[in-house]
Amino acid sequence: MAKLSVSQIEKLIYPVSFYRHKARYVKAACEMLVTRFGGRVPTTMEELTMLPGVGRKTANLVLILGFKSQQNICVDTHVHRISNRLGWVTTRLPDETEQALYDATDRRWWPYINLYLVTWGQNVCRPVYPRCGDCVIAADCPRIGVTRVGRSQK
Ligand code: SF4
Repeated sequence: MAKLSVSQIEKLIYPVSFYRHKARYVKAACEMLVTRFGGRVPTTMEELTMLPGVGRKTANLVLILGFKSQQNICVDTHVHRISNRLGWVTTRLPDETEQALYDATDRRWWPYINLYLVTWGQNVCRPVYPRCGDCVIAADCPRIGVTRVGRSQK
């Protein structure tokens, strides 16, 4: 991968969003994996976040999916938004949400929170116009910060 050109990587990862931007990071990250880490993906947060384009979200996902970590929560925009709407946390930034979720949730769910809330966020608890009328947990949700909801599809 490190030997490919950025345009070759663009073609490989298309239609991922921001594929041009990400292709540059993929190449740079792969080059660092070879030159600094002996061709192996590192297993610590500190080392993973040295890689170009890799922040805590991606590093947590690699640790969970690549190394079967039970100690990490991957917080993306969906996890951040829904955790705040549900009142599990009161935070402004995803990195704050990650730390707050370690306190607010049972650790047996940590590796699965991203999987469940991303799917939930794409289909029901959407960023704009969440489908609260169709939501099976509506009775238990305080809907913090929700001002407008989408039309029910029932
Ligand atoms: S009730 Fe609305 S805000 Fe609460 S989880 Fe469901 S869709 Fe999201």
